[in-house]
Amino acid sequence: MQNDPLKNAEAQIRAVAGLIGLSEREVKALLKIDNLVKGEISVKTDDGKVKKFKAWRSQHNDARGPYKGGIRFHAGVTESEVKALSIWMTWKCSLAGIPFGGGKGGVIVDPKKLSVGELERLSRAYARFIAPYIGEHKDVPAPDVNTDGTIMAWMLDEYEKKIKHGEPGAITGKPLAIGGSKGRPAATGLGGFYTLEALVKSLKLKKKPSLAVQGVGNVGSYFSGFAYDAGYKVIALSDSRHTIFNPEGINVKKALLWKKEKGTFEGFTGCKVLPAEAVIGVDADIFVPAALENAVRGDNYKEIKAKYVMELANGPVSPEAEEKLVEKGVIIVPDILANMGGVVVSYFEWAQNLSGYYWEESDVKKKLGVIITSAFNGAWEEWSSLKKGNKKVSFRMGAYAIALRRVLEAMKLRGRV
Ligand code: NAD
Repeated sequence: MQNDPLKNAEAQIRAVAGLIGLSEREVKALLKIDNLVKGEISVKTDDGKVKKFKAWRSQHNDARGPYKGGIRFHAGVTESEVKALSIWMTWKCSLAGIPFGGGKGGVIVDPKKLSVGELERLSRAYARFIAPYIGEHKDVPAPDVNTDGTIMAWMLDEYEKKIKHGEPGAITGKPLAIGGSKGRPAATGLGGFYTLEALVKSLKLKKKPSLAVQGVGNVGSYFSGFAYDAGYKVIALSDSRHTIFNPEGINVKKALLWKKEKGTFEGFTGCKVLPAEAVIGVDADIFVPAALENAVRGDNYKEIKAKYVMELANGPVSPEAEEKLVEKGVIIVPDILANMGGVVVSYFEWAQNLSGYYWEESDVKKKLGVIITSAFNGAWEEWSSLKKGNKKVSFRMGAYAIALRRVLEAMKLRGRV
């Protein structure tokens, strides 16, 4: 069983390399992390002590533009994970056709155990830690798991104090009042929804497929809401403790409100309440992992009954599980495509900050739809031509073929390969 995110990221590149004729030298160049910032940040706790936290910023490849990627606060963060996530960001930005490379940040911390003051001091300490390496034309961080607009506001404020001038384009995912973009909070979920619509169209499905969604954080909850509003039947929803299940369809709005108010799905009526892991085996047409990576692995992929998997989380299906599922005929819409909405609207936010001209939400949504639909169709076409006579070629490989070629072209033009 292989659950090392960095090894997974490498395996994914190698799987495509043969198909599109990349040399070993090109593969190594594509895998190389340009710069890894790592260290410990010190934070004063409420009882006056000082606590240290391990922190990273991985900058993978900036051949196509500044590094771009979120900052994750989680107890399970590892160096391998941060590096892998930065690599995935490079492919995602490339596939989206936006002018960025890949970056990612992480801190080993369980933010739920911190007071608001401690969380602010941690966020500010992290901003000071990465300040020499970021900037609107260098590396542009954003939120990821357990970080949000409030945290981005603290970080931008700390960064601007350090550089002694305003630079809103240095961090995206900011609240509107300090230069955020309309439509950013919903962007990844909405992008996932556009991907779902593009998938249904490409498959020429007559009936809307049913969905099982793992994780109801930012991404999972917006996605489920959009799908529900558009008439899709969401038959299972899960958080880290429970799965709620109703084969007739869940009232998503009510379930999310319940979870928001009570902090748990427990007690929600009209649904069966099952253990968290049960969501994987639900008999839905599409399984949508929207929580953390490696949700589907060698030891549990057999539970999947869905014909399609849409990766809204980053890296939720391990390469080992993917190989087996693809053999079985399951179509997996890869993370770099299905969840690109967040970084695309981050790009819009950055562009608005740089130009000083702010857009309406309807413009954001429309432009997002155009980028995602075009990325989806391009990847689908590439996949269709690559898989002729070779059933083992996954949809991910089609998406990767486009993304890797574009990065390689930029590297060659810059004389880096
Ligand atoms: P979040 O912190 O808002 O939500 C994560 C959710 O996952 C939480 O609700 C948590 O309860 C749930 N969870 C954790 N373990 C679980 C488990 N075992 N089973 C079911 N649920 C579980 O984070 P998010 O921003 O929604 O990000 C989710 C995923 O999407 C991550 O992989 C992230 O990297 C990816 N992503 C996020 C964005 C974005 O814009 N926020 C963009 C691209 C990709």
